[in-house]
Amino acid sequence: MFYTSFEPLSGEAKFKLGEEPPRVNAKHFLRHARLLPVLAGFFCLSAAALAPASEADEFKRHLWFLSSDELKGRGNDQPEIDQAADYIADWFRRYGLAPGGDNATYFHEFEARTAVELGPGTSLSIGLPDVQAQLNLGSDFIPLFSGPSPVSASLAFAGFGVSAPEIGYDDYAGLDVKGKIVAVFQHEPEEQIAGSRFAGLAYSPWSTLTYKAMNARIHGAVGLLVLPDPHCDRERTWKQDVQVEALGIPVVKLSEEWGRRLLRAGPVKYADLARAAKNVALQPFDMPAVKVSIGVEAIERYRVLRNVVGVLPGTRDEYVVIGAHYDHLGLGERKALAPENVGQIHNGADDNASGTAGMLSLAAQLSGSSEVVGPAAVDSSRGLVRNTGRLTPANQEPGLVFIAFAGEELGLLGSSAFVSRPSIPLGKIRAMVNLDMIGRSDGTVYIGGVGTATEFREWLDGLKGQTPLTLNYADTPQAPSDHLAFAGEKIPVLFFFSGLHPDYHQPSDDREKIDQFRALDILDLVEAVTRRLVQPHQPVHFVETDSSSALLGASFGSPVFGVVSEPSWEADGVLVTGVKASSPAFAAGLRRGDIIVGCDGEAVMDRLDLVEQLKQPDAGIATSHPLLVLRGEEILTVMLSAN
Ligand SMILES: [Zn+2]
Ligand SMILES: [Zn+2]
Repeated sequence: MFYTSFEPLSGEAKFKLGEEPPRVNAKHFLRHARLLPVLAGFFCLSAAALAPASEADEFKRHLWFLSSDELKGRGNDQPEIDQAADYIADWFRRYGLAPGGDNATYFHEFEARTAVELGPGTSLSIGLPDVQAQLNLGSDFIPLFSGPSPVSASLAFAGFGVSAPEIGYDDYAGLDVKGKIVAVFQHEPEEQIAGSRFAGLAYSPWSTLTYKAMNARIHGAVGLLVLPDPHCDRERTWKQDVQVEALGIPVVKLSEEWGRRLLRAGPVKYADLARAAKNVALQPFDMPAVKVSIGVEAIERYRVLRNVVGVLPGTRDEYVVIGAHYDHLGLGERKALAPENVGQIHNGADDNASGTAGMLSLAAQLSGSSEVVGPAAVDSSRGLVRNTGRLTPANQEPGLVFIAFAGEELGLLGSSAFVSRPSIPLGKIRAMVNLDMIGRSDGTVYIGGVGTATEFREWLDGLKGQTPLTLNYADTPQAPSDHLAFAGEKIPVLFFFSGLHPDYHQPSDDREKIDQFRALDILDLVEAVTRRLVQPHQPVHFVETDSSSALLGASFGSPVFGVVSEPSWEADGVLVTGVKASSPAFAAGLRRGDIIVGCDGEAVMDRLDLVEQLKQPDAGIATSHPLLVLRGEEILTVMLSAN
């Protein structure tokens, strides 16, 4: 998954931050008595090499390789991701799957922006009346947005950088900033005042950095310095991994120390400014004696990434997709939850070597490539009655398509690329099953998307008595992972997930912590569901669930609102990359290129925020949402109404 923070999920199932998985107890261990030879093999490699392959062998083999240090965390910007793709394709071939990608290969290619690096032109120098200083990148300032640079100009201070005529507030009133560099405080006025005009204790759209940058640009500024809020004692967790986006002017954030030094050169005492910032008494002022030079140079790197697609044909031209993303965070350059972890290998054993290994071992199992484990070999307490290994397609049975997705951690890029340029026609996909993080179950498996087909709940209920796992359903597709791209195309989805834990997106997400037994329990369940899904003449009827969650995906829109958004946009706000024809978004006049920074008067920091705001209590009731939208040289309010 690609949460950047532990935002609470709403809905039926709250995926909680899990505890350390309990150690395997004796009872659990005995249930998996059939796995004992595997464990023995683990301690004696030569014996393992001779043993016949079982599903458990396959799972461990793939988990171990994909989460090894050799693959350096499978970062999308690193060559090791290609090594992982080649490995998966090689096993698809060994399992007898047919190539399902481009030009009769296993690979479905797409281009993605995999990195944004700061160029040598990134710099900040400040000339105060008494000193000329070259500031240090990282400790004194961090770049937020790129734009034509370097720019050199004198400074002007514009409060919080907010112009909100609708509430009679303007930090730029009486201040001419044309051709100047502007300094503004982060956050917003009255933020500790319940019921304030600025969304009360919540943050308003005017607190977003994207808004402040755009507003400065609209006023003619050539650069922007963001200074730490002087009175903030409840620091909002600003993204630690802000990626530099182009926004027309270079924007940097200053350290607190430099913020103070800068303002001391102005006409108002810093302490008075800080006091004034608590309410709305801040007055803007010019600082002609302060000269600033800013450069923010962003170098974008694009790369061809590969989804790996293998097909087990059926006897009917229809398919069930089993998917898992195989990319992870590499050395943590992007999206690591803690900046101090950058440079360490993020092995991503649970996220998502576990799901990829699971998908591969299902391919082995269902293609008949792994040892057939008949009912006689199964411990009776183990629950699920297993079929024989190979899925032998009966008359009119759909086939299976196994897909390992790349680019998921960058925002579902691989699955989005697949649905926008499918190598299997989307109309022929009966359902999609996604495995993302199945290795840390505490005895529960979360299943998202149960409400996306009328049949799913009944099937799963029917399996409850046969699995040792507790099934925790959510009707909506829930968490942001590759199944969302398919749900957005009105394909029924099921998402299997064993829960969040403290190692999520940390270098400590290691294979030693994977509970293989429970992962195999989950795979048994997935296999049973898959066998059900491929039954001939099995109707699977798509149901629209939480339409707003489709906003989380990439090249697909929300069927209700019709907003198509950019998943890899890293700055505050949501970048609109498309608007569906005759949708409410179209009717509201939203356009490609718009940046949504507010909804219902509250700040929209990312797509999760927007989805939360757009969630409707009842799909039948028409609701309207005022959006604060940044467009070119305009900031406007757009009314988005459902139905
Ligand atoms: Zn994941
Ligand atoms: Zn992830």
